[in-house]
Amino acid sequence: MESAFTDRRRATRSAIYHCLYETEGISTRQSLAQSLGLSLPTIYQNLTELTELGLVRYSGEAQSTGGRRAAGLEIVPDARFAVGVSVAANRLRISAADLKLNELAYRSMNCSVLGKGVSEVTDRVAAELERFLDDFRLDRTKMLGVCVALPGLMTPERDRVLFAPTLQLRDSDLTPLYAAIPYPMYVANDATSSGHAEWFARGAVGNLAYISMECGIGGSVLIGGAPYNGSNQRSCEFGHMCVVPGGLKCSCGKHGCLEAYCSPDRVSKDLGISLTEFFDELESKNPEYGLLWTDVLQHLAVGIANIRMAFDCDIVLGGLLSQYIPPYLPLLRQYVTANDPFSENADYVSLSVLGGHSVPLGAALHFISDFLDNI
Ligand SMILES: [Zn+2]
Repeated sequence: MESAFTDRRRATRSAIYHCLYETEGISTRQSLAQSLGLSLPTIYQNLTELTELGLVRYSGEAQSTGGRRAAGLEIVPDARFAVGVSVAANRLRISAADLKLNELAYRSMNCSVLGKGVSEVTDRVAAELERFLDDFRLDRTKMLGVCVALPGLMTPERDRVLFAPTLQLRDSDLTPLYAAIPYPMYVANDATSSGHAEWFARGAVGNLAYISMECGIGGSVLIGGAPYNGSNQRSCEFGHMCVVPGGLKCSCGKHGCLEAYCSPDRVSKDLGISLTEFFDELESKNPEYGLLWTDVLQHLAVGIANIRMAFDCDIVLGGLLSQYIPPYLPLLRQYVTANDPFSENADYVSLSVLGGHSVPLGAALHFISDFLDNI
């Protein structure tokens, strides 16, 4: 009895919090009672609890049709915050985000952890995290947790990295990392984190497929915001979908993978130039680069159309290479449309709105979602 009563009370409080969280503009006690079908005394009692917890505040006055104006109510976005850390071969990025995923602080630093094992990653992450919290004067008592995003495959228990080629980690124990971070901790895949952040930034509705064009090609699929992980934690390896049977050799050892045609390396490292140099030359109408870029876009379009056929959802391109795509997006959409028998245009293809911040923000989102699910 007692527990059923407590559960019901908690569900009511949660519904009130979520209603305030999702409402654009100012809510009132009356508007809450109306939209949730609850009595005013119930609303009042729960609001007292939520304001005492510092999660909700009164905020000026809402418009009223006459007489006394109703007190406005809103959630306090920075009542809690979460931290996301993105670990890549040569760069560490850290974001702190409030409950609405507004970025409170961000830092990006060059640091090579390549080939140095979990202990080096652990030392750098632990030290930089504390420095970050101190420098930005973030109140650790309000911190929900720290999520570290790695470019690799993890066990379902998140205690081992099975394979992270760009960090040169294989079947590595993550226990030291958990032990070194004295806060609630989680380890996520970087492309899943990115996709989750992009999904949230687009209003947190529907489904989304995310293609990461960073070191190689990776991705994620978010179904109603929940990552689809697959049976072996190996879902959404879009880079290794075959787009040309027997085609170019891929880093995985197979031939004709999307990654072999569309990785950033193909238009930078393989040519001995930087991405910026490639796109500068492309804009100056270098014919050889023009042909190569068309080839990249056409194969990317095949991959995108295949993902669309499988998941029937919006598709977002992110990562380093996507930052150069805006002028070519209309052309890419044309190529996608040519491969899609069901759509008249490919408006469902768009570019990342969070850019380089999407991985650490998406990692922070892990603990924010957890908070929202359990309030
Ligand atoms: Zn491959």
